[in-house]
Amino acid sequence: MTLASRYAGKTVLAVGAHADDVELAVGGTIAKMRRAGARVVMVVVSLPGDYALRSREAERAAAILGCELRVLMGDGARRIEDLKSYELVAMIDREVRELGPAAMLTHGATEIHRDHVLVHEACVSSQRLQPFDFFTYHPNFCRPVPVPFHPRAYVDITETMETKMRAIEAHQSQFKCRGIGIDVYRDIARLNGRMVGVQYAEGLDVSRMLLA
Ligand SMILES: [Zn+2]
Repeated sequence: MTLASRYAGKTVLAVGAHADDVELAVGGTIAKMRRAGARVVMVVVSLPGDYALRSREAERAAAILGCELRVLMGDGARRIEDLKSYELVAMIDREVRELGPAAMLTHGATEIHRDHVLVHEACVSSQRLQPFDFFTYHPNFCRPVPVPFHPRAYVDITETMETKMRAIEAHQSQFKCRGIGIDVYRDIARLNGRMVGVQYAEGLDVSRMLLA
C-alpha cells in the first residue's frame, strides 16, 4: 500500500505555524495524498505581517495543491509566542476533535524558529485525543541553516514536484519580494529522492504509525 492510498477516504491534517511552512516541507506529499482521494486540511496557525495578502497567497497555494485551508489565529497583533501554551493546544485539539484525522504532519522538535517548536509541542499533545499516524517534516528556513533532521520515511513526490513548486511560488511576499530563490526546495527534494532511488522525494520522521 502506498502512503497516498493509505489515506484514501480519510482525513489528513498538515499543520504549520505560518502560511508556506506546509508547502515547503510536504507540499508534494499532501498533493499526492489529495490526488489519491484523501481529504487534506492545511492548518495554518498564524499569518504574521500583511494578513490580507498572506491569506490570499495561502488560499492560492492551497488551491494549487487541491487542499482545504484553515487559519487558526485571525487578523491581529498577536503572534504564536503570545499565546499561552494551553490556548495553542486547545486550538489544535479543536481541529482534531472535529476532523478526526488518520494522520498529522507537522514541524519537528529541532527547528530554529521558536514558533515552529511551539506548534510541534501542541501537536504532540493532541495525540492524546485519539490515535493517528504522526509525522514530522523537514525543518523550514528561507536561508539554509544546519539543523538536525533524520528522515525515517520518504514519499516519492516525482509526480507532484512541479505542483509543489507552483504552490511555493504562490507565496510571493515571502520569496520573490524578498529576493529569496526557491531552488533550494527542489535541491532538497532531489537529494531526498537520491536516498531512495526516485527523482524527487520528501522526507518524514515517523513518531507514530500503525501498520495494520
Ligand atoms: Zn514558519
